[in-house]
Amino acid sequence: MKSQARAVIIGGGVVGVSTLLHLIRKGWSDVVLLERKELTSGSTWHAAGLLPLFNMSYSVGQIHKYSVKLYRDIAEELGEDIGLRQVSNIRLAMTSERMDEYRQYAGVAETIGVEVEFLTPDEVKGIWPLCVTDGLIGAIRHPGDGYIQPADLTQAMARLARAGGAEIHRQTSVTAITQQPDGEWLVKTDKGDIRCEHVISATGNFARRTGAMVGLDVPVIPVEHQYIVTEAHPEIVARHKEGLPEMGVLRESDGSWYMREEAGGLILGPYEVGAPACYVDGPDPDSEYELFQEDVERLAPHIESAIRRVPIFGELGIKQVFNGAICYTPDGGPIIGPAWGLKNFWLNEGHSFGVTAAGGAGWQLANWIVDGEPTIDMLGVDPCRFGDYATKSYLVAKNEEAYANVFTIHYPDEERPAGRPLRTAPCYERMKNLGAVFGQKFGWERPNWFAPEGTPREDHWSFRRSRWFEHVGNECRNVYENVGLLDMTAFAKARISGPGAEAFLDRLTTNKLPQKPGRIALAYALTPSGGVHSEFSVTREADDSFYLVSAGAYQRFDHDWIWRHMPRDGSVQFENKTNALGVLVVAGPKARTLMQRVSRNDFSNAAFRWLTAQDVDINLAPCRAIRVNFVGELGWELHHPIEYQNQIFDALWEAGQDLGLRPFGIRAMDSMRIEKSYRMPGAELSIEYAALESGLERFVALDKGDFIGRDNLLAWQQRGLANTLVTLEVHDTKDADPVGNNPIYSDGHLVGRITSGNFGFRTQKSLGLAMVTPELAEPGNKLEVDILGRRYGAMVIVDSPFDTSNERLRG
Ligand SMILES: Cc1cc2nc3c(=O)[nH]c(=O)nc-3n(C[C@H](O)[C@H](O)[C@H](O)COP(=O)(O)OP(=O)(O)OC[C@H]3O[C@@H](n4cnc5c(N)ncnc54)[C@H](O)[C@@H]3O)c2cc1C
Repeated sequence: MKSQARAVIIGGGVVGVSTLLHLIRKGWSDVVLLERKELTSGSTWHAAGLLPLFNMSYSVGQIHKYSVKLYRDIAEELGEDIGLRQVSNIRLAMTSERMDEYRQYAGVAETIGVEVEFLTPDEVKGIWPLCVTDGLIGAIRHPGDGYIQPADLTQAMARLARAGGAEIHRQTSVTAITQQPDGEWLVKTDKGDIRCEHVISATGNFARRTGAMVGLDVPVIPVEHQYIVTEAHPEIVARHKEGLPEMGVLRESDGSWYMREEAGGLILGPYEVGAPACYVDGPDPDSEYELFQEDVERLAPHIESAIRRVPIFGELGIKQVFNGAICYTPDGGPIIGPAWGLKNFWLNEGHSFGVTAAGGAGWQLANWIVDGEPTIDMLGVDPCRFGDYATKSYLVAKNEEAYANVFTIHYPDEERPAGRPLRTAPCYERMKNLGAVFGQKFGWERPNWFAPEGTPREDHWSFRRSRWFEHVGNECRNVYENVGLLDMTAFAKARISGPGAEAFLDRLTTNKLPQKPGRIALAYALTPSGGVHSEFSVTREADDSFYLVSAGAYQRFDHDWIWRHMPRDGSVQFENKTNALGVLVVAGPKARTLMQRVSRNDFSNAAFRWLTAQDVDINLAPCRAIRVNFVGELGWELHHPIEYQNQIFDALWEAGQDLGLRPFGIRAMDSMRIEKSYRMPGAELSIEYAALESGLERFVALDKGDFIGRDNLLAWQQRGLANTLVTLEVHDTKDADPVGNNPIYSDGHLVGRITSGNFGFRTQKSLGLAMVTPELAEPGNKLEVDILGRRYGAMVIVDSPFDTSNERLRG
């Protein structure tokens, strides 16, 4: 084994080997893969090998699509059968809500170029004659979907990687990993040590153990997953004899199982409630090709459901039950990207559909490692989307929940209950008493909306306007007419200070920093290629001190980006203030009267201008009032040491009663921000779009000197921008609005996608923010938007349809 390499990959499952192959294909031949036992001896060997293209996530959908194409190409390139069978896949629907999910998904598929077709129950019967269609209302089918032999695929990729110069060492365990003073990694194994520039952890069920070697608490804990392989059935065997094609993969989503043919019999794989987390403290050091004791009883309801749907299943003897560990994360997505707080340490972990994802995950991670960033938006799988709130006990609860929900309907407004409440702001109980229906972001409970007295305090998830629609509308109206109170304690907050703070932030972000203490600016941090990584509101506190606020969900993501780019000479200090400070927002035309009642400070327009901040007293409490908000009304964000929150809350509440003060939640905020065309990271702002495509011209000071991403942004502009962000008014909607990922058409051609959408209660319009081709971006242009399978007329309108000239904000 060599003692020096450019990159070392730990783990010889399908994911590690794919990463190896893609590094080779990116031109890095000096790469080594270390596997403690044999290739595939972790989870890969016993996988059922299904390759589901279906995924509601824009990132993961693209990853899966790439994989299936890669596997076909590999089989062709090698001229070998690696067990790839693109036999298609049918997903059944038994409810109209399920059909809505499929319609929403079909929009995602259309925007990422995955072929999907809708079937009637009779068409299902035509393809899957052994299936009873009672109770079905429809189905979708992916012609390109199917399955593969995971071990054959892994070995094929390993051969290709070796042919490109990669070394693979089996029976070689990594025992320790340390970073050297020069930044290189020293990977210690039981066969010797290797120094390298980059380490990639692809260790499946061992992810937490590998993470612990470098001080990372990797949020992965596996869950037990079983599938049943049956004896052959004469009817299936007869079909084969007649030369009929395989019936393909059948998924009854509402029964939470998949089925496919296997050697004349069937495979049934249920996703049951109650499957336990496993390897909570890691697998046994000797674990290899390990299976657990089967528990068929746990699968009984799913077996019954499968027999109702495919009666011959009840006639079949069980040949084998596989019960193995399948990795999970709290949201069920994998963890692909740089590890937080470490340089050149990468994670490709937490894969629950790892055979399906391996190709795409290896492709994007190799791009990231070699070129410094991926080519598709990877926010949905970024390692930083979880924080240190994700303790081992939390992971057990959430990962079991994620597993049980693989086949439940994935609503856009879904909020799952396990592991909650976890992080609560001091005003949590007060908000609860006011009827708050909470959601969770980054572990924090946040009021999503408020159920009026006498109405059920239950969330109601839907792809259409749901039971909370009217109440959210009333919250928006009250903010518009009176004044509303919102808890935004979950915001990510940080202080950047020191003699080098200004120069550092100036280089990190695109626009000119606020020049005087008390001034505020929105600042965007770009990736090296000119896409948007992060958005911060920056308040200048002093000559050498800045206060940065960003979205709560991106705390680790944003703060890690700051840390990565900070000078290491001590000239800049970073402090995470997230947990130390609470935030309440007051917004609405009566906000000034309210503030004046609770404070001795002067909140008049002359004394307290828009986009400025002041340290004030609110009742007895110290507070920084910042005159900005995300809803487009007169208002202030009140940032305070967290222990004063209820003192401030109570003062506002008491003083605001006759002004009509009412709480409002995140859903009302989202509706109002779309009426203002305010962009959101992860939607309108993404690495896939140049900052200038996202409409950030006025925040990008190309004349201020160098900043990260500037040169490549200019080059991108010169090559030609492919998209323009626009605001759309969608006509004639009645019970559904765009929610994001809706395809947009002009003259029947796909010309863009909605990045986020909502109903605007102040404008009484169904609205979308959308990326379209630049020639269609003129206000007045007519387009069509797909919402749940129906096309609606739409028109490009001027940005900020509510209070276009910002008079209410400035007033
Ligand atoms: C019953 C079952 C059915 C499944 N069916 C499907 C399916 O149909 N489709 C699908 O897409 N997915 C399926 N999966 C999931 C799939 O098996 C996994 O997502 C995938 O195999 C993960 O691959 P991996 O490379 O991340 O992990 P693994 O295959 O577990 O590989 C990790 C490797 O890292 C090695 N390693 C760990 N620590 C060290 C160390 N310190 N030094 C050296 N080596 C180390 C391990 O020995 C192991 O070989 C199924 C899972 C189960 C349990």
